[in-house]
Amino acid sequence: MPDLTNQPDVVIVGSGMGGATLAAGLAPTGAKVLILERGERLKNTPETRDPRAIFQRGFFRPQESWIDGAGRPFNPGNYYLVGGNTKFFGAVLIRYRAEDFAPIQHAEGATPGWPFAYEEFEPWYSRAEALYQVRGALGQDPTEPPHSAPYPFAPVPDEPAIAKVRERMARAGLHPASLPLGVDIERWLKGGATPWDAFPNADSGKSDAESCGLAAALKYPNVELRTGARVTRLIASADGKRVDGVEVLSGGETTTIRAKIVVLSAGAVMSAALLLRSGLANGSDMVGRHFMNHNSSAVLAIDPRSVNDSVYQKTLGMNDYYLSDGAGGPPLGNIQLLGKISAPILKANVKLAPEWSLSWVARHAVDWYAMSEDLPNPESRVTVNGADIHLDWRRSNWAAHERLVKALKERCRAAGYPIVLSRAFDRRTPSHQCGTVRIGADPLKAPLDPFCRTYDHANLFVVDASFLPTSAGVNPALTVAAQALRVADHIAKNDL
Ligand SMILES: Cc1cc2nc3c(=O)[nH]c(=O)nc-3n(C[C@H](O)[C@H](O)[C@H](O)COP(=O)(O)OP(=O)(O)OC[C@H]3O[C@@H](n4cnc5c(N)ncnc54)[C@H](O)[C@@H]3O)c2cc1C
Repeated sequence: MPDLTNQPDVVIVGSGMGGATLAAGLAPTGAKVLILERGERLKNTPETRDPRAIFQRGFFRPQESWIDGAGRPFNPGNYYLVGGNTKFFGAVLIRYRAEDFAPIQHAEGATPGWPFAYEEFEPWYSRAEALYQVRGALGQDPTEPPHSAPYPFAPVPDEPAIAKVRERMARAGLHPASLPLGVDIERWLKGGATPWDAFPNADSGKSDAESCGLAAALKYPNVELRTGARVTRLIASADGKRVDGVEVLSGGETTTIRAKIVVLSAGAVMSAALLLRSGLANGSDMVGRHFMNHNSSAVLAIDPRSVNDSVYQKTLGMNDYYLSDGAGGPPLGNIQLLGKISAPILKANVKLAPEWSLSWVARHAVDWYAMSEDLPNPESRVTVNGADIHLDWRRSNWAAHERLVKALKERCRAAGYPIVLSRAFDRRTPSHQCGTVRIGADPLKAPLDPFCRTYDHANLFVVDASFLPTSAGVNPALTVAAQALRVADHIAKNDL
């Protein structure tokens, strides 16, 4: 293992979707890249496939509390491992729709649009799909934006029960389409007959930041990963115009690492917290603001006459209400299948119900995930107070989400599911956290330029879900990866 710690060209804080993918993009340049990751590599233990351990006992949840807007502590589902939150992700690697890059009028406000158009960004989506080995099909989803290259692999097949769901939803007037997924299904199932959504990936076929981005980066001798290395502060240069390096806590010792370029990729809450603690990059007073997550609900469509014996389930999505409510009104959001819900998973949420009754529900239910855009609001924000992290999420656009759930329920009933239940996901789960250090063309309104460089410090970048100026209504990870590859090209050309 080379020792680059004395003089890396680029130090990257965090090995999740942003950090690992950026490292993959920079690796071929020959630049010395050091990735500092606070977590360790996930071990392949029985708990990785045990729904009781994951959902009931919270085996993998960090021992950490943040404080919500009402001053109450809560345990966030934010994971510190090599690969970050992607270790647990549902592996839906979907592009934002082309329309998401322009301002959009929603029921409860407007989005600002991006500082560049979809067409400009598109080549990096194709590269991200190649790196993350996305399985998908073009031509099924009417909202699919133009692709310059086809998906690298054919879609993950519907299980027989899900093929019937596809037919039923199509008969009810919707356009079910194969979800673009980063899953090698044969490898995944060799590790156990479980879904992958929220089950951590112990090198068993999920395309996450560790198995794809980081693995590609570490093939190069000029890239090093240091685990158990928690960055506590960024150090500004004497004139405040640059960042000299970072302070790292590792094995109980604090050291300083200096680098030509510093990249924060610690996730949307942690990157904002690090900047706020360091007093950096905040000339706009926008760091930590515009926190977004998605508005989301589980919708269980139950038909007592049919059995859903699928294992992984999660192969379909529908965007019929994505660009409008279906009647010319404002957008409502995306619908996709969840990983198959089982009795132990239901039990984690409905503690008093006997497991046999939950088994009946799970056996006859098709489990949907309805997801609506959360709009940027400067008062929805991350702040720090000493060691405490405060997350005051002001969820927006909730009426649109309720309309999406209502529309989905109606379509499910039309498709022959007489019982349809829904439950909103709770606020403690910042799975799709984003927006806290956003890009923008105006330094007064955004801390980052369109290439994720901080306006205040020429050698400091933030490359993770923080940069997203809008949450859109689809899963964020592929967009984070595509921007990371784009930023890597920009750094290679201008800074190395
Ligand atoms: C259960 C679940 C399901 C999801 N499903 C999907 C999905 O299907 N599709 C999708 O697109 N997205 C999904 N997501 C979201 C997706 O995982 C995130 O959007 C993505 O990981 C964000 O990338 P990131 O680089 O911002 O942060 P992360 O990937 O979380 O990476 C941040 C990294 O920084 C490290 N770190 C934090 N602080 C420090 C520090 N001080 N020093 C050093 N290292 C630090 C962390 O340990 C972590 O490795 C899901 C998330 C969850 C939790």
